[in-house]
Amino acid sequence: MSSKNILVTGGLGFIGSHTVVELINAGYFPIIIDNLSNSDLKVLDGIEKITGKKPVFYNLDILQTDDLEKILNVNNISSVIHFAAYKAVGESVEKPLDYYYNNVSGIISLLKAMQNSNVKNIIFSSSCTVYGQAADLPVTERTPLIKAESPYGNTKKICEEILYDFSKTGNVKVVSLRYFNPAGAHKSSLIGELPLGIPNNLIPYITQTAAGLRNILTIFGNNYNTPDGTCIRDYIHVVDLALAHVKSVEFINKFTDNYEVFNIGTGKGTSVLEIVNTFENINFVKLNYSIGERRKGDIEQIWADCKKANSLLGWEAKLDISDIVKDAWNWQKQLD
Ligand code: UDP
Repeated sequence: MSSKNILVTGGLGFIGSHTVVELINAGYFPIIIDNLSNSDLKVLDGIEKITGKKPVFYNLDILQTDDLEKILNVNNISSVIHFAAYKAVGESVEKPLDYYYNNVSGIISLLKAMQNSNVKNIIFSSSCTVYGQAADLPVTERTPLIKAESPYGNTKKICEEILYDFSKTGNVKVVSLRYFNPAGAHKSSLIGELPLGIPNNLIPYITQTAAGLRNILTIFGNNYNTPDGTCIRDYIHVVDLALAHVKSVEFINKFTDNYEVFNIGTGKGTSVLEIVNTFENINFVKLNYSIGERRKGDIEQIWADCKKANSLLGWEAKLDISDIVKDAWNWQKQLD
């Protein structure tokens, strides 16, 4: 029997914290490491209020390989879920070296620590950005990958390649989860997304605009080749996404191969205007928005084929965009 102790890097971040909650709910013991570069210690209190348990926490950077190794050894870790990474697309264009250093050196440091402490299982946060604008939709895991638009996207692709190559040595088993567009918040409004500065992503921009923190939402283009002219994405509720990680922990203990990749989305595409309209209708709030220019680097449309995750992980998304905009708005309303 492998231990129920799971190391969660970046466990105080948006997706990490929701995953920690669902791991605890499923009877695991998450051990968090986070360097607090884009998260807050208060998140630990939110996790404790929801679950009644306070996970072990280490304030540590994943580049500190020796300390990581000690933590892996001391805590008898069976699997690692790796979230700790920089994630802002625009910033990665400004600071490519920071992104390659943190995200690529970060995973190498983590894998070395895992190898030295004989920890075999890793679940990696990848992204649908690896597909770019695919010719055929929905995208499956067999859809060809294209050159990434941004250094951020490229770090995800490179990390997948590093994991694949390393898995071939037999030293690790890897599950790589390609997230579509994570959004929403925990139903309790005790944890949620905490963007640093001006949000890049649509849903936090909407909630901050509705809360009066931003003047107006700009919809980036309405002349795309889609039914209403705005871009289409597959928005996945962060709690569903968290549950995909719990399923991956169960899966990785059983599977005999070394490397598996899964799309994690809902299988449904939603346009920007549909999100805006749903936000207004569900929350009874008028949103100040206007149509602007296209954003450079945006793809027109993408949504996931999730059959592989449905059948092999036994996972499927249960929540929809109504849940996402409702939970995101409830979270926003109680922030100071
Ligand atoms: N978007 C928008 N206005 C904003 C932020 C995003 O119209 O202020 C659009 C963006 O063009 C894309 C969708 O919302 O079509 C999702 O963008 P986000 O940055 O959240 O995720 P992406 O899929 O680009 O990673």
